[in-house]
Amino acid sequence: MKKILILGGGFGGVATYKHLHKIIHPANIHNIQVELINKTNYFTFSPMLHEVATGSVGREHIVQPLREMLKCCGKDFHQALIIKIDPKKKLVYTNTGNYSYDILVIALGVEQSYFNTPGAEKYALALKWLPGAIAIRNRIINSFEQASEKHDTKDSDAMNKFLNFVIVGGGPTGTELAGQLSDLLQNEMVKFYGDIPINHAKVVLIHAGRRLIEQLSTQASASALKRLQKMGVEVILGETVTEVTKDSVKCSSGSSIPSNSVFWTAGTESGLKKILPTKLLNERGMISVSGTFQVPEYPEIFALGDNAYVTEDDFKYPPLAQAAVQASSTVAKNIIAHIHHQTPRKKRYRHKGDIIPIGNSYGIFEQKTIRFTGFFAWVLRRIVFMQTMYGWRNKIHVLFDWTVETFSPRDTSEF
Ligand SMILES: Cc1cc2nc3c(=O)[nH]c(=O)nc-3n(C[C@H](O)[C@H](O)[C@H](O)COP(=O)(O)OP(=O)(O)OC[C@H]3O[C@@H](n4cnc5c(N)ncnc54)[C@H](O)[C@@H]3O)c2cc1C
Repeated sequence: MKKILILGGGFGGVATYKHLHKIIHPANIHNIQVELINKTNYFTFSPMLHEVATGSVGREHIVQPLREMLKCCGKDFHQALIIKIDPKKKLVYTNTGNYSYDILVIALGVEQSYFNTPGAEKYALALKWLPGAIAIRNRIINSFEQASEKHDTKDSDAMNKFLNFVIVGGGPTGTELAGQLSDLLQNEMVKFYGDIPINHAKVVLIHAGRRLIEQLSTQASASALKRLQKMGVEVILGETVTEVTKDSVKCSSGSSIPSNSVFWTAGTESGLKKILPTKLLNERGMISVSGTFQVPEYPEIFALGDNAYVTEDDFKYPPLAQAAVQASSTVAKNIIAHIHHQTPRKKRYRHKGDIIPIGNSYGIFEQKTIRFTGFFAWVLRRIVFMQTMYGWRNKIHVLFDWTVETFSPRDTSEF
C-alpha cells in the first residue's frame, strides 16, 4: 500500500486530490491511499473574498466543507495544523498527531506579509482568508455606526477616523476591494446613514509601486487608475505605509491619515520556514521544485501552488489559482508515474488571462495583447467564476446573491 499525503485543502491540494481519484478509481487501483490535511475543515474560494468583505456575496457561499468535496473518501480528511515536516523520516507533525507518508504533496499556500511594518499585524485587517473578509465587512459597518453617533455630537475630527477607509496594496486584490468598497459607500451607506454627509466617507488606496496591478500592462494599470479615480477613490502611488496605529496610518512621505479601518492586501510570505528544512527552500521561503513539481533531493515530495517555485528557466509559474489548478493534473500524473518507476513529465503553465472587476459593471480583461475594459469584461469575470467555483450549491447561492444585489441593497447588518 502506498500512502499519498496532501498538505493543504486550497486550490492546489483539492485539485490534486480530485485528479488522483480520477486516475485511481476507474483503473481500480487498490494499493494507493490518498489523505488530505488542512487546518480548517472547509475550502475557500479566495477570488471572491472582496465580495464577502463588501457584502455582495454571503460569507458561507464562497466556502465548501472539505469532507463534502472529497466525498468519495471523506474519512481521508484530517483537520489539523501542520507544524513540521521531516523528509528523512517521511513524517508530518501536526497539532493532533503525526502522519507518515510514501508520497507527499505540499500545497500550503502563503501567508499575509506585513513587511515588519509597526502596528500593521495588530491593527490592519488582512483580506487573505474568510475571517479577514468578515472582519472587514463588520469594521466598515461598525465604523459607520460610530461615525453616525459622533456626527450627532458634532465631533467631526473623531468622525473622520471612522470614515476614512484605507486600503494598503494596489495589486489585483486591493484594486478590486477599493472598487467594491466605493460602490458600497455610494449606494447602501449613503441611503442608510443619511445623517452622515457622504462626501465625508473616503476610500484611500496606498500603493508602493508607481502603477496599480503591476503584473498587467501599463495601459491596463492606467485604466484601473482612471476607473478608481472616477469612482472617487483617492489613489496614492509610490508611497509605503510606515506605521499603523489604532486610529491612523503613517506614510513614507511623513503624512498621516486618521483611520481606524486599514485593510491590508500588500504582499505575501511563505510559512514554510517554520515547517521545512531551510535547504529545501529558496530565499523567499518557497519550495524549490523542478518542472515536474518534485523536490530534487526528495523526488517523493511534490509541491505546487503559491508555496512552490519552479527553478527551471522559462518556467513561469505565478501565484494564481489557475496556476495551482493547472499544475495539479501534472502532479497527479507524475505521482502515479513515480510509484510505477516511470519518467515524470514537465508541463509549462499556460496563462489564460486576467480579469479585474472594479466596482459594479466594470472590469478589465487582458490576455497578452488582447485587452478590453467595461461591462463585458465584468460579465466575463462572473461567467468564469461560475465555471471555476466548486459545487452547484455555491454557484446557485452566488448567482442568487448577485441577482438580489441588483434589485435591492446589500445586507448591512453587523454580525
Ligand atoms: C483576495 C484574493 C483574491 C484572489 N483572486 C484570484 C483570482 O481572481 N484569480 C486567481 O487565479 N488567483 C487569485 N488569488 C490567488 C489564489 O487564491 C491563490 O493563488 C491560490 O489560492 C493558491 O492555491 P494554493 O493551493 O497554493 O493555496 P491556498 O488556496 O491558499 O490553500 C492553502 C491551504 O493550506 C492550508 N494551510 C496553510 N497552512 C497550513 C498549516 N500549517 N496547516 C494546515 N493547513 C494549512 C490553508 O488553510 C489553505 O486551505 C487570490 C487570492 C486572494 C487572497
